[in-house]
Amino acid sequence: MSDHPLDPATADLIRRMPKAEIHLHLDGSLRPGTALELARQEGLDEGLDLTAMQDRLQAPERCADQAELLQAFALPIRLMQEASVLERVAGELVEDVATDGTVYAEIRWAPALHLGHGLPLDEGIGAVVRGTAAGAAATGVVVRLIAVALRSHPPLMSERVAQAASRYLDQGLTGFDLAGDEAGHPDVLDHVRAFDLARQAGLAITVHAGEWGGAGQVARALAVSPSRIAHGAPAINDDSLVDRLIDGGVTLDLCPTSNVQAGIVEDVAHHPLRRLFQRGVPVTLSTDDRTVSDMTLVREYERAVTQLGVTPAELWAMDRHALRVAFLHHEESLRARLLDAFDRFAAGEPALAGGS
Ligand SMILES: [Zn+2]
Repeated sequence: MSDHPLDPATADLIRRMPKAEIHLHLDGSLRPGTALELARQEGLDEGLDLTAMQDRLQAPERCADQAELLQAFALPIRLMQEASVLERVAGELVEDVATDGTVYAEIRWAPALHLGHGLPLDEGIGAVVRGTAAGAAATGVVVRLIAVALRSHPPLMSERVAQAASRYLDQGLTGFDLAGDEAGHPDVLDHVRAFDLARQAGLAITVHAGEWGGAGQVARALAVSPSRIAHGAPAINDDSLVDRLIDGGVTLDLCPTSNVQAGIVEDVAHHPLRRLFQRGVPVTLSTDDRTVSDMTLVREYERAVTQLGVTPAELWAMDRHALRVAFLHHEESLRARLLDAFDRFAAGEPALAGGS
């Protein structure tokens, strides 16, 4: 596939356009400088300087598989075991996404991975809620949170996470997700009770699927009726699955750079983002992990243009769609206000017409 040059006007437009990023992990987006400071405090820095810490936090450009990619999260998670740290890094991530021109962000993390120093589940969640609220107040970014349960954890732990998360629904925690090692734990139905609890409490449902196991694994995730799937790129290989996603209005929250790292596509130029979009599958574009992928949302958008030939109008359609499917289901007037601000921006930009 040929390279598509990034003209200055498009580069400028990408920077200026208001953005919504709805697939972003807290533990994959720790600032290297903060990680170094925390590691030194804990005696875990191994003599690393800032550059070496940055390298250490970043996963290889292309891992053998999802399991290798997940290894990159071990150190950040180890450093994030105190309420004060969770609060700090959550606030810093909101400040960082603001530098991309992001006006709406959904940040997700797995509360059960941060109990190592005896932190109660609810207190850990409360710390992330406080940190993001502070970041939101400082930047004006609207932030909502998604609690992630893990495929490798006992189903009972997933239920506890769903119940604890539900108690923060009115403080901006509006979604529930399942993520982690797919090869070892392919069946989402192991955690079906947690999904039921989350849904009954009013949380919106998403599932990580398709970083291993191809289209069949994406199809399997539909068993818990998610409104969105995190990744799901291999769906392109199964026409009947593509039809099911379109008919069911199930959005794929795609992250091309991260998918290359997980080894499911050869390079960004081979990612099915644009093909899925053109087939009519609802898609959005995110980084997944700012630090583990050494990526910003602006650069992810630029890559979509230069390596996949996505047009500014198509980018805009994906961006606007992220707001339409954002987990603001209890705050429709806020969604309407954000969409209105997007539409007012687009009205002054002829290059953004005709993407949807
Ligand atoms: Zn993810």
